[in-house]
Amino acid sequence: MPKLSRSRGGLARAPLKGKTEDVPGTRKPQEPNSNEDRQLYSGLIRLHVLHHATQRPVYGLWLIEELARHGYRLSSGTLYPMLHGMEEKGYLRSVEKRSGRLARRVYRATALGEHALTRARRRVSDLFTELFEEVKESKSRQEVRRAGGSGR
Ligand SMILES: [Zn+2]
Repeated sequence: MPKLSRSRGGLARAPLKGKTEDVPGTRKPQEPNSNEDRQLYSGLIRLHVLHHATQRPVYGLWLIEELARHGYRLSSGTLYPMLHGMEEKGYLRSVEKRSGRLARRVYRATALGEHALTRARRRVSDLFTELFEEVKESKSRQEVRRAGGSGR
């Protein structure tokens, strides 16, 4: 269970309750590997956050929902420390926005964050190309093998 008190200000406490906790074994295992692979995706998740924070101010619950849409299930106990870390690195800046009794911390990318994203874009594109080239290559190798086998 996420320790919500760790998140700064605990802004997302009420709306997130019961929604984002992922306790293994207590729910239907829809994607059994989604949590084990999280380490692989941690950089992608940060880039995702950075991307959206360059577009508009974002807040925790919105990011949790947006990331879930892409198949990343994060609890607030994971997301908020990540956001704080990115803020400490200077990629994000946050301010507390109040409307009535509701306060939420909104994050925007800094100039440094935008530059980092620009650099990352090139690398992601390289990786993308390589990942899908290899798929294409291994497919065409299979086709060659198949064609060679049937020719005899
Ligand atoms: Zn997105």
